[in-house]
Amino acid sequence: MKLLQETVLREGIVLSDQVLKVDAFLNHQIDPGLMLAIGKQFAELFAAEKITKVLTIESSGIAPGIMTAMQLEVPLLFARKHKSLTLTSDIYTETVYSFTKQVSNEITISKKFLQPSDSVLIIDDFLAHGEAAFGLARIVEQAGARVAGIGIVIEKSFQSGRQKLDDAGYRVESLVRVASLSGGRVAFVEQGAELA
Ligand code: 5GP
Repeated sequence: MKLLQETVLREGIVLSDQVLKVDAFLNHQIDPGLMLAIGKQFAELFAAEKITKVLTIESSGIAPGIMTAMQLEVPLLFARKHKSLTLTSDIYTETVYSFTKQVSNEITISKKFLQPSDSVLIIDDFLAHGEAAFGLARIVEQAGARVAGIGIVIEKSFQSGRQKLDDAGYRVESLVRVASLSGGRVAFVEQGAELA
């Protein structure tokens, strides 16, 4: 997605050869026009899948997730990373390890919002090692629902997540694919564009 690639090149900050900071438009300050374009793109890509629900994880998946859900005219459901006081029973739980933050989170979703008849589109901001996407997919499967696909805003293709999700048979669509963050530069898989 050209607009997203341009924004990553202009606003992204390479923190290390593993981590890209995008707090100017996605992870802290949010660019609404860009999020709308992202939502339209995901809705188009998954139009044939008869999606009944979009599922993401708080907090950075919510902005692209809500725009996608709005375009598909279905609800957005987000997994919580901290147990809410009002979310004490009838919950699905999975453990998700974050390589970026080096902590494990217990993610939870209320059982009442996922039914076996649901076709679920999982959306997340980044794909690195696939922990978050697999955790969400396991919850969908616990509910007996179908994972219709996984939509990723920024895939770091040099990390293991993409391969693992492909091997597991999921349909993964990433709007930009980063081939490398070496030497403080963003190189994309498709065009080899670089950020000095
Ligand atoms: P995974 O679960 O695939 O290993 O990592 C994805 C999750 O970790 C995303 O939900 C995202 O919040 C975070 N993450 C992974 N890599 C990066 C990165 O390079 N930059 C940012 N900002 N977040 C990342």
